[in-house]
Formats: sequence, structure tokens, C-alpha cells
Amino acid sequence: MKQIFFFHSILLFLIISLLTLFDPEKTGNSETISKNNEWQSATTTPSSMVTPIIIFMCGDVMIGRGIDQVLPHPSDPLIHEPFMRSARGYVDIAEQINGPIPRPVSYSYIWGDALEEWERMATDVRIINLETSVTESDDYWQGKSIHYRMHPENIPTITAARIDFCSLANNHILDWGYLGLRETLETLRKVDVKFAGAGKNLQGAGAPAVIKVNEKGRVIVFSIGAVTSGIPREWVASSNSPGVNLLKEFSDKTVRDIKERVREVKREGDVVIVSVHWGSNWGYRIPFVHVEFAHNLIDHAGVDVIHGHSSHHVRPIEVYKNKPILYGCGDFLNDYEGISGHAEFRDDLVLMYFISMDQSSGSLVGMRMTPLQIKNFKLNRASSADVLWLKDTLNRECKKHGTKVELNTDNTLTLNWD
Ligand SMILES: [Zn+2]
Repeated sequence: MKQIFFFHSILLFLIISLLTLFDPEKTGNSETISKNNEWQSATTTPSSMVTPIIIFMCGDVMIGRGIDQVLPHPSDPLIHEPFMRSARGYVDIAEQINGPIPRPVSYSYIWGDALEEWERMATDVRIINLETSVTESDDYWQGKSIHYRMHPENIPTITAARIDFCSLANNHILDWGYLGLRETLETLRKVDVKFAGAGKNLQGAGAPAVIKVNEKGRVIVFSIGAVTSGIPREWVASSNSPGVNLLKEFSDKTVRDIKERVREVKREGDVVIVSVHWGSNWGYRIPFVHVEFAHNLIDHAGVDVIHGHSSHHVRPIEVYKNKPILYGCGDFLNDYEGISGHAEFRDDLVLMYFISMDQSSGSLVGMRMTPLQIKNFKLNRASSADVLWLKDTLNRECKKHGTKVELNTDNTLTLNWD
């Protein structure tokens, strides 16, 4: 009897072991969990024993035009582009390439696999560059060929992703005129999503957003936009007129102005981010003035993180004096699936950037990136081959800036720096 029991026990043990070994989902999950524990423990700062703040950042969220057309409350599809007269045209050409997109989609549809990743990475703060006006205004900006508009009733799309902050100093925020800007600001205020970079006057446009993180401190975000990103000079806010917090030059005076604003608001333990829309849409070369300006903000203005965007694809990352500089986060969501050209830059591949900051020193503790792919107007986990392509591309470009990325078992990337 004893022998039979022993035999059964051995058999049961073997069956359980085999099941565990050959259940790919189970194996994948345990690896994911262990890697994630690593992320959590690597982001604990022994010096202060305060849990670091985990900040999510991404580049352009272009949810107007084609994407707005598949959301529950599409705008009037009429657009004023040289080669396209209806925003629905962008849905049609995307469907020709990648197959049908359901209409209407739910408010959370477009975020796809990002929703789960925000939870898995224990994100405290979610920061995006909102590259569209949120308005019913028909007053499109004359002399500009592309105009992005999302219907205000589609704003639950932003709240469905629990976005905390939107950068607005960019080249699409005034696409539908001053009425469009006003409605964008009012719509964001109504749903309690913070923003910076545009306002009813220069003071409002230049004011930072203050985001309180439960028991962890505060994140302060400034938003500025350079004319090199395509922002018309007339969009500049003045002391008595609305507009954008426009960066006219990368000069010492600009750094001094930002230093003054940071001094007014920054308290001990705050993490200060400058979110900047700058430079061209394509190409990897980082202009020297961007490097110099970013360094000066860190050296002289009390800035801890540079959140750069405008390029449609990812650009290199630098860590300067333990402060992260993201030169170009790339697009995060766009309606470009059916548009050909620039395929070599793979603007369909995007990154979720998770930065862990020690708020007592304002230093970077760790950075992880999750690669996703835009397909069917939605974010999907990138394939292993695409993750490798992103890793190699980043390593080729980051080398010049002293950083390197490594691939984790859960198909995320970790940043290493000197
Ligand atoms: Zn832009």
C-alpha cells in the first residue's frame, strides 16, 4: 500500500513538472513576473528609502482626423488638404493595407495592449504630447496644409487611458483656430486632465502643470514648442492674446527664463520635466543646439527630465549627469497606416517609456521601454523581430550619446548608461 502511494506521488510530481515545463503561457508569465519584480526592486532607492516615482512618457498622440472618424463621435469629415478632402479617406487607406477597422470603436480601443502595460509597470504618472485640437470648430488655419481635429465628445478616449498630462505646445494645437484652442483647453479642464504649453495668454501658456503623486511627491511639467517643429510663428501667445508657449531660440536667455519659472515652483523632492516639441519629423541626427540646450536646462535651470518629441520615429536617448534626455519619443498613435514613404524609419513601431526617478536627488534610477506596433488604429505588442529591429536601431543611434539598450525576456528594453 505504502509502495503504491509512493508510486502515485512520484507520478503526480512528474505530471505537474511536465505541465509546468511545457505550458508556454505559464513559463512566459513566471518570466514576466520575475522580470517585473526586478523592475520594482531596481527602482527602490536605498539612500532615501522612498519608493521612486515611475513616470510614463510617449511622443505624439495624433488621435484627430482618421482616428477621430472611428471613435464614437466623429467630427465632420471635411478636411482641407491638397490630396485628401475627407478624414474618412485615412480610414479607407489604412483598411486597404491592414484590413477592416470596426466602427465605432470603444473609447479605450486605440490603446490596445498599452492598457495592460501601464498596470504591469506600476505607472504613477502618464504624460503624452497631444498632437490634435479637440474641438467642433470649422475655422481651419489658412496657409497650413494639415489640420488635426478630434470631436470633444471623444474626450473619454483620453480619460480611458487615465492620462494625467498633455503637452500642448505643438504644431497642431491651433489647427482649427483660436476657437478650437479655447475648446481644447475647456474640454481638458472639464475632465480634469492637466496640460501646459498653450493658454489664453503667455502667462497661461508658460505655466507648468503640477501633478501630485500619492505619498511620493510631485511632478512638475513645462511644455514648450520650437518653430523647427513646424509651429507657425504667429501662434505665439502674448501677454494679452492666446497661443502657444513658443520657443523662439535655444539661447542662454531662454534657459534663464525657464530657470526663473522653475525656481518659482520647484520644491525639494519635486521632479521637473521640460516637454519640448522640436526638430524635424524624419531622420536620426540630433542637432548640436538640442544637445547643448538640454544640457543647459539640466546644468542651470534645475530641470530633471527632457521629454523631446516631434520626430515620427524614435530617436536616441542620453543620460546626462543622471538626468534622462529623450531627444525624440516618436509617434505613439497616428493614422499613417495607409501612407507610403519613409518606410525605413518604421513609424509604426512605437515605444512606451517608463522612467523611474529618485525624487530626493532628481536622478534617474532606471528606464524600461515597451515596444508596440500601431495596426488597425490600435496599439499591439510588437513581434520579436520588430523588437530586435528597435533594439538594434536604438543601439546604433544611442552609441553616440553614451547609452545602450538590452533586451529582456519579456520583450521589453532596458536602458544602460555610463
Ligand atoms: Zn508635431
